[in-house]
Amino acid sequence: MKIIRFLSQSGEKLYGVFNPDMPDEAKVIDGDIFGDIEISERVERIEKLLPPISPPNIIALGLNYGRHADETGVGYPEMPVMFLKATSSVIGHDAPILLPAAGSDEVDYEAELAVIIGKEAKHVLPGAAEKYVLGYTCANDISARDWQLHKQKNQWARGKSFDTFCPIGPYLVTKEEVANANRLRVRSVLNGEVMQDSNTSDMLFDIAAIISNLSCSMTLLPGTVILTGTPEGVGFTRIPPVFLKDGDIITVSIENIGELTNPVKRE
Ligand code: MG
Repeated sequence: MKIIRFLSQSGEKLYGVFNPDMPDEAKVIDGDIFGDIEISERVERIEKLLPPISPPNIIALGLNYGRHADETGVGYPEMPVMFLKATSSVIGHDAPILLPAAGSDEVDYEAELAVIIGKEAKHVLPGAAEKYVLGYTCANDISARDWQLHKQKNQWARGKSFDTFCPIGPYLVTKEEVANANRLRVRSVLNGEVMQDSNTSDMLFDIAAIISNLSCSMTLLPGTVILTGTPEGVGFTRIPPVFLKDGDIITVSIENIGELTNPVKRE
């Protein structure tokens, strides 16, 4: 099932079932999406698509793809490299990514598979990890490289937490629809040009290993979004570098998961 979150014409925030044959309306989902849900017969018009989840935490992995670790020259991590991204940076499909008014000449894209946690997870063994997954969505781990690497001296959180720097969506694909999330094509397309084209099979730590490792130090709450890292082809490692500019259109496309598109504007 593909679950969307949207604003109805009367201003209610609702969950609904995405139906490609009628993309402007949705059957409303009643209940708790982390518990028991029921698909009602009530159909509402989609006034605005919202990010598919309002996460209590966003946990992101750095350097989790072999060829991306190669292109940065940093080497392979022995344990998942983890950082937090502010929940206030979340936006949905079609919402603009804003180039910060505080100044950055190096705003970069990172196509990533996002895992959405379905139930509280602590000290989970890799073999049991899938039980804690609700589903998946596309994410773009937008990063102001100058802030991430220089102005904040490798304290990544700030350069990755500017408002609008975490586009996710367009919908949450429940895990039953995804045969193997560790084998999905991941791409980013900037103004029609393919910038990243890889596969989650290049991840150094697969999804079960990530959930197990993260849950040994912190409780993963329902709705937690885990960004699983980005493959090679990001802007700052290119010669010459490519950074986002006003008027760009960036799409993250993940096999069986969806296409997340956002325009880029100046704040
Ligand atoms: Mg990233």
